[in-house]
Amino acid sequence: MINPHTMRAMLLDALHTPLRLAELPIPAPGPGQVLLKVRACGVCHTDLHIADGELAEPKLPLVLGHQIVGIVAEFGPGASRFRTGERVGVPWLGSADGTCPACQRGQENLCDHPVFTGYHVDGGFAEYTVADERFCFPLPETYSDIEAAPLLCAGLIGYRTYRMAGENVETLGIYGFGAAAHLISQIARYEGKRIYAFTRPGDQAAQEFALRHGANWAGDSNVQPPESLDAALIFAPVGALVVEALKATRKGGVVVCGGIHMSDIPSFPYSLLWEERIIRSVANLTQRDGEEFFALAPRVPVKAEVQTFPLENAEQALGRLRSGELTGAAVIDFQSASD
Ligand SMILES: [Zn+2]
Ligand SMILES: [Zn+2]
Repeated sequence: MINPHTMRAMLLDALHTPLRLAELPIPAPGPGQVLLKVRACGVCHTDLHIADGELAEPKLPLVLGHQIVGIVAEFGPGASRFRTGERVGVPWLGSADGTCPACQRGQENLCDHPVFTGYHVDGGFAEYTVADERFCFPLPETYSDIEAAPLLCAGLIGYRTYRMAGENVETLGIYGFGAAAHLISQIARYEGKRIYAFTRPGDQAAQEFALRHGANWAGDSNVQPPESLDAALIFAPVGALVVEALKATRKGGVVVCGGIHMSDIPSFPYSLLWEERIIRSVANLTQRDGEEFFALAPRVPVKAEVQTFPLENAEQALGRLRSGELTGAAVIDFQSASD
């Protein structure tokens, strides 16, 4: 008999071990939190970096997943922002203290005491999860659960990365053409940019994928594009791409690193940075990024190319991501499971 107080979850017991299907108690929402019945959860490169021990201090054991689409099922004390049955999205930034200097400046993405979903607290590779209601986003109705999930990290943090390229960008390079890139290139194209997509040398499938999703040109990451770039976005976790991107970027241009983890950047001659080129990173997201992005995405409209997996195959989804076999976004679909 099925216990009404437990749920199925894919659990990371320890770093470098495969996720395991487990039966866990359904969490109780704390003050200001909502309990969500999870409908879909995106699978992100960051989930891989966590499982592979590349990020400092995940809670263990841990339920991964920070691109959660869920239905509000219960309320913790004081939670009143949403109604029962409302659909919301939960992103990577699950909470911020609101009091540190960064939060006071409106940069909650740089909070000194952040709570990251599926990292410090359990995330969405489970039938239920709890979330701080202030950091949830209402989702545009035009998106299905599965389509909305990848927007919550690949879309949102990709969008912040894109915005950091600044104004006056006509030619935009994108290094690493996966989930984030294929969403952001649709916005960039909508805003009239010319897009140059760079993939692992020889990766024909990824280059064709890029051309299908708005890129004007696609080529190997060690090749110079036919015109110099006003800005380059790097989504692949490969430090050497910073150097390649600098070579391709014009005077005064900017190279934006969009990932949470990257291998070391090799040393390079100062002449590549000279002439006011800029290298910068992007960390996490703000509430404002989310509001802007979810207002803009349906207008473009941004459409994710999605591959779905049932919950018990979450480890397979991570494996496909690790090997680079996956094009587009991987999403765990809970609706195929028994209700
Ligand atoms: Zn992510
Ligand atoms: Zn803070």
